[in-house]
Amino acid sequence: MRSQVVFFKELDKLPDALLHFKMFESFRNRKVLVKLHMGEVRNRYYVKPDFVKLVVEELLKINAKPFLFDTTVAYNSPRKSKRGYEMVARLHGFTKKKIGCDIVISENGVPIDINGIVFEVAKEIVDADYILAISHVKGHIQAGFGGAIKNFGMGGVTKETKKLIHSFCEPVYNSENCTLCGICAEVCPFGAISVTDIWRRNERKCLGCGKCVEACPNNALSYKKMSLHEALALSCKACIENKKVIYVNVLKDIARSCDCDPSAGPIICPDIGYLVSDDPVAIDKASLDLVDEMEKNIFEKVNKVNPIMQIKHAEKIGLGSNKYKLIKI
Ligand code: SF4
Ligand code: SF4
Repeated sequence: MRSQVVFFKELDKLPDALLHFKMFESFRNRKVLVKLHMGEVRNRYYVKPDFVKLVVEELLKINAKPFLFDTTVAYNSPRKSKRGYEMVARLHGFTKKKIGCDIVISENGVPIDINGIVFEVAKEIVDADYILAISHVKGHIQAGFGGAIKNFGMGGVTKETKKLIHSFCEPVYNSENCTLCGICAEVCPFGAISVTDIWRRNERKCLGCGKCVEACPNNALSYKKMSLHEALALSCKACIENKKVIYVNVLKDIARSCDCDPSAGPIICPDIGYLVSDDPVAIDKASLDLVDEMEKNIFEKVNKVNPIMQIKHAEKIGLGSNKYKLIKI
């Protein structure tokens, strides 16, 4: 059977969209973790507190006990520490007074083994039986786009695991196949590769995005362990397996780059609306399809990464279905 994805444009349809899924009723009286990226300093496109407050109000109506949650980041930012992220969250309007529930930032993880790879998932996610994920749909310089899968795949794990995931995607160089064409250096977003009469990679600059591996026309580069798309899907599985999760994707302020990027603009697609589902694969595929209807292949055009890859990997490991029925309300 196809997964169901509810699509609406007007905010007064939010209650109906949530109640469409029987799972939402099971959140009654339960503690519910609300997963949200609360935005990097100077980023303007993250999901705003006014919308999050509406979602929290729906949870409070069924006597659930929600708390807003995110993890600290691995790169240099105030959000690298719990205290720093709490400060940024306040700055962006994510306060108990505004949202109506506690705001929790975590640095602690619990090891979860998926296919022989150990991901440190945030303890609060591991402890949560009921989760509501609010994900901003936007471009991503390394993953092509970010939605529900990425909200957990990168956003649900500790700093150490975030670094580990990126390390999986670092290039391994095979000089025998290399023609010194320089394409890898051209596509590297971080200037980590130089090609003269020899090939060099600056390990300190490399963020393990895998773009060079995808771009090399001569199979001279391979992944140290796996692609970012595959790693995100596996890490997402570590976060959500055996949990009841409702996904809300926000297709507004669809910027070129992600909420971690202080310079994420420009906007690359007009506002579309909101999606709700109980399937992370279906809701991300529906998000991509709706964006495609507006701006064909825009994520791939601006970030030179095919965004369908993470969805394909997620489906392959049983996270959900690529096939869905879109219900417009
Ligand atoms: S793209 Fe491949 S063949 Fe070209 S320089 Fe880079 S590693 Fe060598
Ligand atoms: S993995 Fe990404 S950051 Fe690292 S060298 Fe390749 S393109 Fe550059």
